[in-house]
Amino acid sequence: MKLKVYSIFASIDGEVNKLHQGRLSTFIRLHGCNLDCSYCDTKYALSGPHMELTVDEIVNQVKIMKPKKVTITGGEPLVQREGVVELIKRLLAEGYGVTVETNGSLPLVERSELFEGVRAVGLEKVVERETLPQFCWVVDYKLTSSGYNKRMNMHTFTSLTKDDWIKFVITSEEDFFEALNFQRKLKFTYRKVGKGNLIPNFAYSPAMYLGAKLEYAFNPSALVHLMKEYGDGDEVLNVQIHKVIMLDEEVKWHEWCNCQSRETCEVCRRYKQGDAT
Ligand code: SF4
Repeated sequence: MKLKVYSIFASIDGEVNKLHQGRLSTFIRLHGCNLDCSYCDTKYALSGPHMELTVDEIVNQVKIMKPKKVTITGGEPLVQREGVVELIKRLLAEGYGVTVETNGSLPLVERSELFEGVRAVGLEKVVERETLPQFCWVVDYKLTSSGYNKRMNMHTFTSLTKDDWIKFVITSEEDFFEALNFQRKLKFTYRKVGKGNLIPNFAYSPAMYLGAKLEYAFNPSALVHLMKEYGDGDEVLNVQIHKVIMLDEEVKWHEWCNCQSRETCEVCRRYKQGDAT
């Protein structure tokens, strides 16, 4: 099983997640996406150069890095569903914390399926029934301004737990109120079906100009004002830390190989042969 990978790099996880914003993480940025959002800040990963790597090759690269947490992102990871499931299971079984960022248009993977890899190495005793302590989904709910609101998969949003995050990218006041409306409807649905104790977390992320078009940027302090004035009191502001401190650590796949010899390394050999599209 091979995955299309744009890059693998270590940095801080600048966005909300169960395993802590600001924590060091190894990012696996996968290639390709099924959407093309107006404010996308990772267009470079949607098409163009990438490498096809096996799960083993990816896990070996992760092991070279320092972080004990991995962020699987894209693009859209779940367009490569089968390989991503295998990758998550391997990483959990190796003891890594894993967060997966996904765009809300595709069905999630059942936790029980991801749990298999953990059970295989005998870690299940520490795992609660409903959740994996070292795992969470961070799911974007695409608002109308993205151009893809109609592609949101409601089952995806009703299958989350209290360990997961729903993220709204806010580009305007209208976005804020649309997000708030969705948040309230979803909370109502969870309570109605007796899952009030599993309501996920809601993060409001002001669109930031780095990587995206300036016209979409929204002032974080204006967002705080809206949250204080109109919110439910449990929303979280998600300022992308890596953009505030202007980290630019992303390294393209062909630059990260840490092999001792590029002459004998299989990944480098394939790169030289043009095994990238
Ligand atoms: S889902 Fe994410 S990666 Fe895909 S186009 Fe939208 S913002 Fe970009």
